[in-house]
Formats: sequence, structure tokens, C-alpha cells
Amino acid sequence: MKDFSELIAHAKSCPAPTEIEKGEIVGGFAHNQVMALADKVIDAVKTGAIKRFFVMAGCDGRMKSREYYANFAKALPQDTVILTAGCAKYQYNKLNLGDIGGIPRVLDAGQCNDSYSLAVIALKLKEVFGLDDINQLPISYNIAWYEQKAVIVLLALLYLGVKNIHLGPTLPGFLSPNVVKVLADNFGIDGISNVEDDLKMFLA
Ligand code: SF4
Repeated sequence: MKDFSELIAHAKSCPAPTEIEKGEIVGGFAHNQVMALADKVIDAVKTGAIKRFFVMAGCDGRMKSREYYANFAKALPQDTVILTAGCAKYQYNKLNLGDIGGIPRVLDAGQCNDSYSLAVIALKLKEVFGLDDINQLPISYNIAWYEQKAVIVLLALLYLGVKNIHLGPTLPGFLSPNVVKVLADNFGIDGISNVEDDLKMFLA
């Protein structure tokens, strides 16, 4: 058995943690809640108040390159809504991005397993708008990956037929050039570059 007594004694001698910030973040926008607002969301899309949804789900990390996601969220036009789940949101969920007619501009479904909710929302919107193809929805995918679980979520999106997903801050190192080519050729998967160019590309 390991002896942690010295460590425990030292921990006990340290001052108690103090609160470092205050505030409120609204969460809980899993599919049931978003669909409870369906009429409002659909009206906002039909009137053009919401022009586009951005799925910015996935993982977070401490590398400087992940600030891209905070900067991307800040740079998004006011008529866009972020759909998020997982840790990626910690880059931008305290930015007070406001709301569109009462619909928060960051709809947070919860943790990464709740990405399921984002897929359900997309499928419901496809049904409501009577579309044949999920890719006809005004939804772009700018996903941050880190963990294997994020890769499983990606595979689920590919299974649903979602195309043109962008992954960052880098493509997974375990993807060989041949696999990247297959993903790019068949699913339009690509990486990210910088906020300005990516915004132009997503909004073109
Ligand atoms: S896989 Fe891990 S790092 Fe990624 S969103 Fe889920 S909990 Fe966070």
C-alpha cells in the first residue's frame, strides 16, 4: 500500500480553495428541449432570423491552437446559432453571445454523449423542412476532436450521411494519408485553417 500521509498532511496545511469567478451559464438544450422550442426555431429559420447553425461540439484541450474555437465563436455573425455538446464549449460558453428572439446563440446539449441530441435535432429539422438530404439543412460542422469518443461520434455522423465536416485543430494523427483521402473523397472531411478564411468558406 502506498503511503500518502505526507501529501495528505501538506494538503491539510494549504488554504481552502476560493471562488475564482461568478456567473450563470444556461445549458440543458438536449433534443427534447430544443424540440419544445421547435416552432420558435423553425420560424426563426423561415424568417431568416437564424441563417445558419454551427455544430461546434467535441473536445477541448489546453493547447494554444484551441483558442481558434473561441475566436471562431466570437467572429460568427449574429444570425447564427452554435449547437454544442462536450468539452469544446468551454472555449466560448462564457462569451455572452446573446440570443436570437429568445433562442440562446449557444445551445448546449450537455456532455459529449449528448451529441446524440444534436443528431436528433438535425434529423427532426430535416423532417420538418421536408428535405431529402440532411446536408440540405443550414448546418455547418466545425468539430474539435481529441479523444477516441469524438471519433465514434464522427463515425455516427458519417453513418447518418453528414458531409463536409471540418475537424480541428489538427486531423487525427492516426489517420493515414490513404484514409484521409477516402474520408475527403467520400465525405468531404477536411481540416481547419484560420478563423477568417474558415468563416468565408462556411458562409459561402
Ligand atoms: S471525449 Fe473526453 S475530452 Fe472529448 S468531449 Fe468527451 S469528455 Fe470531453
